[in-house]
Amino acid sequence: SSVYEGKNVTVNYLNTQATPALEGLDMTIEAGECVLLTGISGSGKSTLTQVINGLIPHYLPAVVSGESYTLGYATTETPIETYVGEVGSVFQNPKSQHFATTVRSELAFPLENIGTDVEEIEQQVAFVAERFHLTSLLERSIFDLSGGEKQRLAIATATILKPSVYVFDEITANLDEESVQQIYEMLRQLKADGATIILAEHRLAWVMPLVDRVFTLEAGKLTHQLSPQELWNLS
Ligand code: ADP
Ligand code: ADP
Repeated sequence: SSVYEGKNVTVNYLNTQATPALEGLDMTIEAGECVLLTGISGSGKSTLTQVINGLIPHYLPAVVSGESYTLGYATTETPIETYVGEVGSVFQNPKSQHFATTVRSELAFPLENIGTDVEEIEQQVAFVAERFHLTSLLERSIFDLSGGEKQRLAIATATILKPSVYVFDEITANLDEESVQQIYEMLRQLKADGATIILAEHRLAWVMPLVDRVFTLEAGKLTHQLSPQELWNLS
């Protein structure tokens, strides 16, 4: 079955009288695809990513109508804990998931949370740190990382439970070119693993080589579904 299936999905935030943040969205995302959600600020990209990963309506007060399924579970009915280990999310401004003081403990946290034994945690953390070039930073306080390092850590942490789906919302906003390149390389590796990757981005150029399909949003409505080549021809 599909990784995500939305039928006539409409989202209204409870605290506004404004028009819906998403309206009548129909969308299917298949396993192993890398899809790009694009559109200007306020078009609904972030809302859609948070419907997909279940933050809406469970963590943000909103009314969702229509049908919305992630990995076969109705997102409006399913507690977000169900997706732990299945869907990895990273946001524009990554926050520490707890009061971790070091990169090592931040990486270890999701494993500790599910009761993984100490030896296994050590192995996994070492593997992921090596893979994503964080080994030399393991004992560093997370408060002493650069923006790019913080984001690389957030992505690496999202991989530690080996989810099959990733939701990345504007993860390179405010980063320099070198950091963007390093993050591109991390995503390329996740795609090579066979993961499904959902990216919300308004800066397109850096991700295009990874992208299989592009969805454009305008004022909460899905306006185009394109191949990267078609998007290229439009611009
Ligand atoms: P994008 O990610 O494309 O910038 P968003 O999904 O953040 O778009 O926003 C879509 C619409 O929903 C905008 O009109 C925005 O102002 C509104 N919106 C976003 N988040 C909230 C929220 N937490 N509460 C109320 N309205 C919101
Ligand atoms: P390690 O801790 O594994 O020794 P470093 O963080 O010191 O790795 O980085 C080693 C080199 O790899 C640096 O030149 C750095 O710019 C590069 N690098 C860091 N992160 C990435 C990445 N995600 N993809 C590709 N190269 C990277």
